[in-house]
Amino acid sequence: MRTFAIVNFGCQMNEYESEKFREVFYDFGLVEVSSIEEADIVLFNSCAVREKSEQKLISSVGYARSLYEKYGRPYVIVAGCVASIKERKIKEVARDSLFMLSKGYELIYERVNELRSELSKYLNANNSLNKVGVHRVFAYVPVIFGCNSFCAYCIVPATKGREKSRPINEVLDEVKSLVDQGVKEIVLLGQNINHYGYDLGKQEGFIELLEEVGRIPNLKRLRYLTPHPAYFTKELVKRMRRINTLMPHFHLPVQSGSNKILSLMKRGYTKEHYLEIIETIKKEFPEASITTDIIVGFPNESEEDFLETINLVKTVQFDKSFIAAYSKRPNTPAATMEGQIDPKTKKERLNYLLKIQNEISLEKNKAYIGGTYEVLVENVKGNKAFGRIPQDKLVIFESSFEVHPGDLANVLITDADFIHLRGKA
Ligand code: SF4
Repeated sequence: MRTFAIVNFGCQMNEYESEKFREVFYDFGLVEVSSIEEADIVLFNSCAVREKSEQKLISSVGYARSLYEKYGRPYVIVAGCVASIKERKIKEVARDSLFMLSKGYELIYERVNELRSELSKYLNANNSLNKVGVHRVFAYVPVIFGCNSFCAYCIVPATKGREKSRPINEVLDEVKSLVDQGVKEIVLLGQNINHYGYDLGKQEGFIELLEEVGRIPNLKRLRYLTPHPAYFTKELVKRMRRINTLMPHFHLPVQSGSNKILSLMKRGYTKEHYLEIIETIKKEFPEASITTDIIVGFPNESEEDFLETINLVKTVQFDKSFIAAYSKRPNTPAATMEGQIDPKTKKERLNYLLKIQNEISLEKNKAYIGGTYEVLVENVKGNKAFGRIPQDKLVIFESSFEVHPGDLANVLITDADFIHLRGKA
């Protein structure tokens, strides 16, 4: 029996693509394993947004190559943005591996075909072997590709190109087909998802899309990632309230609490606008969780600017913040800005903010203790099951009856730390 592993470094868009690649592996009758060591073929899907994932990719490819030299496997396949921008470096490390370049949305189908033909050659087989079915609880569905925003630190517009929305009927057909296959939760994806439809001439394309998808029969939960605060309006939040399947979780990346830094980042909104939206969310969705992304140590970030970010975090009381120290990405304006912050200061700011956020997250999670929440079960291991509540918090729970992935279970929350909730079904 041939085996494969897929390793993702990065964004949800990559996970969607990996799902498509996974189907090809299944078509060839390969069995998925969870580690590189057990795999005959490993596919790395890479993301260039953070420097760290780029480094992780290169070192993982190097590790896989060293296994290949010892045991004659795994065969290495690299896809995604880093494959495009670091092709030479990866080839040096992996030598006789296959590379699939990531350039634009239409090419996902070409890459899938490329993978199919490469596997066919490599396995010396045809694509009708032992199809293996998988049960998927949730699925990602991209609705808009690329980004027109050009934030000063971001490599996405250079690697993914300009915005391109998928026609609404294509999205609806894909969601319906996934729901028919048993998928319970759909996560719509876009780098700048609330700009959906602008390139099709529709100013209200995003909310109309949510309303249409939200009406699909048997869809239990609807989520979306990642909205841009500049295009997030109070009216949008109010219309969202009327969509029953839309989950009460808002991930709204603020990046900084200083207007000076937001302007240098070219984010296109102010702290005041951001806080106004948060206020509306709290009013319309009092039960919602709110999460964000923050960059510390952006060029020219002074102590005062950093303090403004701390104040904003304390004011909003985010359930979780994904905090990163600024790292230079090639061919972005921020990489050559004057006023780069030294690594020690960046690290200190990162640790300080993480500490504050973890304290807030702990308090937020503890507030769930004693409540009963509906959990969509994602996985069961022994007597423990894992899943998420509507607020997108991960719950680990024990159950006195059998539960399976895809079930909706009512779970009493009995304990919490700053990452998880724990409970009993
Ligand atoms: S909105 Fe900004 S950070 Fe997000 S993908 Fe576009 S350029 Fe990058």
